Amino acid sequence: MTRDAKRLGEFELIAKYFAPLARGERGALGLTDDAALFEPKAGHDLVLTTDAVVAGVHFLENDPPETIAQKALGVNLSDLAAKGARPRVYLLTIALPRAVDEPWIKSFAAGLKRAQARFGIGLVGGDTVATPGPLTISVTAVGEVPRGRMLTRGGAKAGDDIWVTGTIGDAALGLRAAHGENLRLDDKQRAALIARYRIPEPRSGLGPRLLGVAHACLDVSDGLIADLGHMAAASRVGVEIAVADVPLSSPAAAAVEADRAAVSELLTAGDDYELAIAAPPAKRKQMADLAAAAKTKLTRIGRVVRGRGVVARGAGGATLPLSRKGFTHF
Ligand code: ADP
Ligand code: MG
Repeated sequence: MTRDAKRLGEFELIAKYFAPLARGERGALGLTDDAALFEPKAGHDLVLTTDAVVAGVHFLENDPPETIAQKALGVNLSDLAAKGARPRVYLLTIALPRAVDEPWIKSFAAGLKRAQARFGIGLVGGDTVATPGPLTISVTAVGEVPRGRMLTRGGAKAGDDIWVTGTIGDAALGLRAAHGENLRLDDKQRAALIARYRIPEPRSGLGPRLLGVAHACLDVSDGLIADLGHMAAASRVGVEIAVADVPLSSPAAAAVEADRAAVSELLTAGDDYELAIAAPPAKRKQMADLAAAAKTKLTRIGRVVRGRGVVARGAGGATLPLSRKGFTHF
């Protein structure tokens, strides 16, 4: 921590910036105790997930603290949405390098506050440490689903439709734009794509509505093809998608127009935080209605087949060759 943050001290930091984020949660005990209490709603399962974001890996060091906060929480909310869970509480561990000062923490807390209000989740605890390494933020989020009803990756059946929310590949282009690549975009398009990289849009409105309708669901974080592969493997089926049906934003479509090869990048790059869903064709109308109710764009891009793995078909039905399927850390 810098002198600023140090002068404030760990406990003052928690009291000043994090305790206000815990005000709505009785079980947080004002962030003054060793642990928090949480009482689940009767007849519900708790859904637990954790994801860390690291400077230089998941966000850029100089990204605004508000957006870093929204990403740290958002990637976890995306996992809860994919399981059909409603967000309830979260724990926050932050490892702060020296360069982080008090104004940074203040804006970071403001970003958390905004995301909390929007998604109905409260802070109940965490840990604050100093690190000689990059800024690292780990969130553990807790959600609820009616008992026994959590959506999994494992329920897809041959014959199901494959759907995807939002648009695919924007964050990958946004990262390139944030690194200063031109991409022949106007300022507005560039800003929109960078925002898509910085701030995921967890599909929290749609996720819980899918319970009892979808057979399988997961969030697309490592790349569409890789994540559909995870669903296919868990469900012991194959997946076929039509590349032309994959929803692209207008700047992404323009990038593909300019360079056909870009499409494989968009299908295999990470950070989309959209939902991929398998649901039976008999539920097509219902799926469309649920998406409309959740004000979420939802597009049918393919189907579940017998077999294994993922095939992406281009124009004329030819298989798109993909040298890599998605992002991996190691
Ligand atoms: P202990 O060492 O007993 O685990 P800490 O000193 O780490 O306690 O934390 C004191 C209190 O502050 C605890 O209630 C903890 O949950 C909370 N806390 C610490 N860091 C954070 C944080 N980054 N976000 C939210 N709560 C935090
Ligand atoms: Mg501790």
